[in-house]
Amino acid sequence: MDLSLDYNVTTGYHSNSQIARVISEKWIEDNMYCPRCGNRQLVHFPNNAPVADFYCPVCKAEYELKSKRGRLSNKISDGAYRTMLDRISGNNNPDLLIMIYSSDKKRVNDLILIPKNFFTPQIIEKRKPLPATARRAGWVGCNIVIKDIPKQGRIAVVSDGAEEIKSNVLNSTVNGARLDIKNIAERGWIMDVLNCVNDIGKYDFTLQDVYAYENRLQSMHPENKNVKAKIRQQLQILRDNGYVAFKGKGNYSKLI
Ligand SMILES: [Zn+2]
Repeated sequence: MDLSLDYNVTTGYHSNSQIARVISEKWIEDNMYCPRCGNRQLVHFPNNAPVADFYCPVCKAEYELKSKRGRLSNKISDGAYRTMLDRISGNNNPDLLIMIYSSDKKRVNDLILIPKNFFTPQIIEKRKPLPATARRAGWVGCNIVIKDIPKQGRIAVVSDGAEEIKSNVLNSTVNGARLDIKNIAERGWIMDVLNCVNDIGKYDFTLQDVYAYENRLQSMHPENKNVKAKIRQQLQILRDNGYVAFKGKGNYSKLI
C-alpha cells in the first residue's frame, strides 16, 4: 500500500471537492483491498451509481468513500439527511470508507472503515437547510457523528500516516460483521449498550458496572420502562455474538 496521493489526476479540475474526489478515488483504485474478504482490489462503480462508489468483485461488498483534507474530527458531512435515514432503515446502506489526507504532504493520513451494520439513526445528525441564496436552496444534508460509533465499528486501515496490518483489519471486520442487527430500533440499543461496556475501563466487569449507565440509557430511550431488563437482554446479544463472556453471578469479560 503506497500512501502517497497521485495529484496528476487533478488536471482539469478546479473545485476543492472535485479534486478531493478524484485523488481519493484514484488512491482507492490503486491501493485498497477489500476489508471484508481481503481481495486485492476494489472496483469503481460507473459514475452516478445511486449509492456506493466501489464494490468488491469477489464478495460483492459495496463501499461509499468520503474524503476530507486535514485532520480526523468527530463528524464528517455526508449526503441528504432523509436519504441516509431511509438507507439505514432499509438496511441498504453500503460500508463507509473515510479518508483523511494531507494536501501538503500529498499523503493519506487516516483511512477508517465503518461497516454498514454500525449505522443507526442516532449517529446521523441533521444539518441546517441550505440558505435561499444557495443553488440547492432548502436542501438538508447530514453529518455522520463518528465519535458515537462503538470502537468495534471504527476500523482503522491507515492510522496516523501508517498502514495497519491487513490481517488485523480483516479480523476486526469479521468481528464487526458479527453484530448485525437488522431491526434498526434494536440496533440502536445494542450500540448504546456496547458504548457503555466499552466505556468501562477494565476487561472484567459486573452487571452493576453496566447498570451504572442506567440514567444515561434512559435519557437516550425515554420510552423504555425497564432499562435494566433491556441492559441484560443486550448483554446476552453481545455474548451470543462473541463480544463478551458470561462468568456467572453477574460477572462478565470483554472479548472484543
Ligand atoms: Zn470482498
